[in-house]
Amino acid sequence: MNIASLGCGQLARMMAQAAARLDVVCSFVAIGGENTACVDGLGKVVNWSPGDDTARLFAALGQPSLVTVEREAIDVTLLRELAALCQVAPSPESVLVGQNRSRERALLQALQIPCSPHLVATDTGEVRAAVAALGLPLVVKACESGYDGKLQWRFHSSADVDRFCSEHEHGQWLIEKFVDFKCEVSIVAARSGNGDFVAYPLTENHHRDGILLASIAPARQVPARLQQAATDYIRTIMNHLRYVGVMAAEFFVVEDGLLVNELAPRVHNSGHWTMQDNMTSQFENHVRAILGMPLGATRLHKHAGMMNILGSTEGVGANDAQSTEVSLHLYNKTPAPLRKLGHLNVTASSEDELLSSLNELHEKLYGAAESSLDFSRDTLANEA
Ligand code: AMP
Repeated sequence: MNIASLGCGQLARMMAQAAARLDVVCSFVAIGGENTACVDGLGKVVNWSPGDDTARLFAALGQPSLVTVEREAIDVTLLRELAALCQVAPSPESVLVGQNRSRERALLQALQIPCSPHLVATDTGEVRAAVAALGLPLVVKACESGYDGKLQWRFHSSADVDRFCSEHEHGQWLIEKFVDFKCEVSIVAARSGNGDFVAYPLTENHHRDGILLASIAPARQVPARLQQAATDYIRTIMNHLRYVGVMAAEFFVVEDGLLVNELAPRVHNSGHWTMQDNMTSQFENHVRAILGMPLGATRLHKHAGMMNILGSTEGVGANDAQSTEVSLHLYNKTPAPLRKLGHLNVTASSEDELLSSLNELHEKLYGAAESSLDFSRDTLANEA
């Protein structure tokens, strides 16, 4: 069995590692000259750029039985052409929704799943009309290509609006109300072609500079009804799309429930902690789902967390001892400021123990000089 991943980043790496344990061979498509270090030694890599012949690509990959994606920014025409040659999971239509915030919101509204009040603008006239209709403060996001908080603007004053309008002319932007959320959580779920569905516990996420820094599972102080609501929302979305594979949904926790912020038609950084505690990881469940194998356990027995290693591995490197409580995952990347180089997974028997382990790892990685993790509120992500 050979599955091909479109994309060669760390998510493809961890998918391939999980696939290998199931005797499934992976190959990889390097898109537009991307760096392939993450998947070095894990399978065949074939380069592809827009305009290249799809049948040639398929042959060069060794005629995989299935093609999957490790990111949403994938040429959907390529996916559709591959779908004529083999199974593609998730489907091109699911990826199409996940790669554009406007399409995502349209789907959420059609399914009556709550998200923040918003409008879509394609020129500065529409931007100003949206500001007038929604009122400040607002968050403006490019509908496509933004990730880790990139291609986002905050409108607090009319001067912010004027500056944005003088720097832009046409585009496609989601303009949404600034949400004064209590915390950010996400859910990761897997669905098979026959409709089998599993979801992991809600994960609490903490960001720095728009990038995920740490996750805590199960999310703290989140009532069971919100776990149920998140599960119901993602199941509704996946069933509607006849989705196959792993999907993640990010939410803001607000006074009266959850607002969806974003969907990801793929395995997700906030699900990395699922690689431990005797459960089936999101990566293995993705492979299981797309291959039609039974889905594995998603029950968390302890408390789990994840700390991203951003920029440098100096604080916690491969020479540090692994333990049953802490496991290190490195991605074979060259260090660069804020680049995701790896992550540490942590398990603990109590919430307090987990928080102190995460704080300890944070200090090792980022030093005492870096502001310590504020687990009481995600001030860093929610700041202006
Ligand atoms: P996103 O790329 O949509 O995940 O946004 C990156 C981060 O910006 C989120 O994790 C939030 O911390 C923050 N953010 C995004 N949208 C909003 C909003 N409407 N109100 C307040 N904060 C937001």
